[in-house]
Order: sequence, then structure tokens, then C-alpha cells
Amino acid sequence: MVTVGVLGLQGAFREHVTVLRSLGADTRRVTRPEHLDGIDGIVLPGGESSAMVRLAAAVGLFPELSARICGGLPTFGTCAGLILLADRLTDDTLSGYDRPGGLDITVARNAYGSQRESFVAPLQVHGLDREFMGTFIRAPQIVDPGSAEVLATHAGVPVLVRSGSVWGGSFHPELGPDSRIHQLFLEHVGVPV
Ligand code: GLN
Repeated sequence: MVTVGVLGLQGAFREHVTVLRSLGADTRRVTRPEHLDGIDGIVLPGGESSAMVRLAAAVGLFPELSARICGGLPTFGTCAGLILLADRLTDDTLSGYDRPGGLDITVARNAYGSQRESFVAPLQVHGLDREFMGTFIRAPQIVDPGSAEVLATHAGVPVLVRSGSVWGGSFHPELGPDSRIHQLFLEHVGVPV
């Protein structure tokens, strides 16, 4: 059985665990560098990226995660997880803290507005035959996809991208009963569940 790590410092990690297990994967909560040993992939959940970078810094997690991502570890970041994977941010609110990076994209934190401006939108996702309902909560916006491949857009703006084995989405694919995006990710990166 494959084991997918889920970054579990803070945020919506339990929901990802539920989806991954429903697809037949084993999961491991990752909070320290040694938890990265032996996993077949990792999901970085939504939550609060400013809290995640601080908690990760205390244990030196992100430089090690960055090395694993560079080494080909399949990685999927959603919402705050997308912020962690972005090679460039439009503001310096997280500067001074390590982030793993790995996606050649530029991201603007909180660009979709406040918690009250959260919304759900139907998305056409490349590789899925039916729409996926994407939940956007204080979502980051991909303002430049760089060299990443765009798999879905909302109002003309990329919301799901991938570059090799690294995927990132500005919405929350783990909320709700639809596991197709996790399945697509696992299939594409060659993690058989
Ligand atoms: N706004 C949050 C941040 O900057 C992300 C929100 C989310 O993950 N739902 O980290």
C-alpha cells in the first residue's frame, strides 16, 4: 500500500486524510523532517500559511521538504499549501521564513478577499469529464503561472496548475464528497491506490 504524507502542522489536514483514505491510500501526518522518510507523496493543506511557516521553522521542516520535492517527491499544495509551493509571492509577509517552493508561479495571498467573500464555483478541470465544485476560502490567487501547466481557471485566472509531479490549487478540493482531483493527482504522479 502506498503512504501519502499530509502536512499536519495546522489547518485542514484531517479532511485530506479522509479523502486519501477513501481512495485506498495509507496516510501519515507530517510534522517533522523524519516523517518524510518513506512516503510516496505529500499533500500540503489549506489553513494559515503564516502559522505554518513559523511552526515548520521550529523543526527545520521546509528545507528538507524542499530537497525532497526537488528530488521528485509528488506534492500537492492546496490554498495555504499553494502559497508554500509558490516560488514567488507578491508581498513580503512571509519573508524571513523558509518555504519549500517547487512551482514556478507567482501567488498573491488573500487576493480573493476576506473570509466573508469565500465562495464555491464550478470548475472545468483538465482530465475530468464533469465540473468540480471548487471551494475558495480566503484564497490565494495565481497571478502568473510561469512555466506551470494550467489545469483549471476561474474567471480567466488559473486556479489549478502542475509542473511535473508538483500540483497546486488555490481552492479546497478536500471539502465535500468529490475525490476526483486527489485521484487525478495520484494517477498522474504514478502513486497507485
Ligand atoms: N489566506 C490563507 C493564507 O494566507 C490561506 C487560506 C486557506 O488556506 N484557506 O495562508
